[in-house]
Amino acid sequence: MPRLAVIGFPVGHSRSPAMQTAALAELGLADEWSYGAVEVAPEGFESKLHELAASGYAGLNVTVPHKEAALALADEASEAARAIGAANTLSFEADHSAADDVEVRPWVIAANTDAPGLLAALPASPSGARALVLGAGGAARAAVWALAGEGAEVEVWNRTASRAEAICAELGGAALGAPEQASYELIVNTTAVGLRGEDPFAHLPLAASAFGPGQTVVDMVYGERPSALLAAAAAAGAATVDGLEVLVRQGALSLEIWTGREAPIDAMRAAARA
Ligand code: NAP
Repeated sequence: MPRLAVIGFPVGHSRSPAMQTAALAELGLADEWSYGAVEVAPEGFESKLHELAASGYAGLNVTVPHKEAALALADEASEAARAIGAANTLSFEADHSAADDVEVRPWVIAANTDAPGLLAALPASPSGARALVLGAGGAARAAVWALAGEGAEVEVWNRTASRAEAICAELGGAALGAPEQASYELIVNTTAVGLRGEDPFAHLPLAASAFGPGQTVVDMVYGERPSALLAAAAAAGAATVDGLEVLVRQGALSLEIWTGREAPIDAMRAAARA
């Protein structure tokens, strides 16, 4: 029975087990496949990865803080994972080229579905759009790579400006200190602001009154629903996409990699939001 799991530290808060278990049931795979959660500290990640790969796991979703290590330990990686420098999806494959009597560890293949997951969550293609990415951490790297790759005109603001400059030098886009909020068709918050209930308008270069119709605002942070950022954007007539929708979309793409089946998005969304 192929097993799947999300691996992180901590991982107890993750919506992925509920969402992926519902998806497997919807696909009629619940008797064959299972999806759980594995918590492991950074120092134990490498040995746990090889232990799981050798014990019937078909793949893993990887979350904070292991995404960079997951890429580093992989035998093979997608273009997105390599460019972003992080993997959120691992697949394990037996090495069929090895002789029967030789014990070899499974081949580890890394992918990054955070980037295409963000694109899938948007109401329209960002091609040609002026896009503002707030943040310069791991989620920002995936967002900048995805949006620039789709032909958006990407600008990046970060509290620590040097990190915004570094991300743009590597992945594209332009770093800036004072974004003109009303000039963007797309604004993506990838900072952790809001995770602990912080007021986004006290920490980010945005004003609640400067959102408007014609804009799409994405808040990768999921917790409060809607987040204060998305509540203000919606009140001003902007379209909104929350972090759970992005989570659902990245999870759907991971599931498709492992099972080769089209993911049941509605069932996954319902389970993630339950
Ligand atoms: P990360 O690598 O630790 O980066 C954190 C970012 O937040 C940095 O840019 C940091 O700025 C900024 N930040 C933190 N506190 C701030 C504050 N008080 N004011 C302004 N900026 C602040 O984290 P990450 O992995 O990119 O994740 C960021 C968020 O996205 C988390 O809440 C995570 O849960 C969420 N996320 C959601 C999904 C999803 O599927 N929905 C996927 C990935 C991540 P400095 O550089 O100045 O420190």
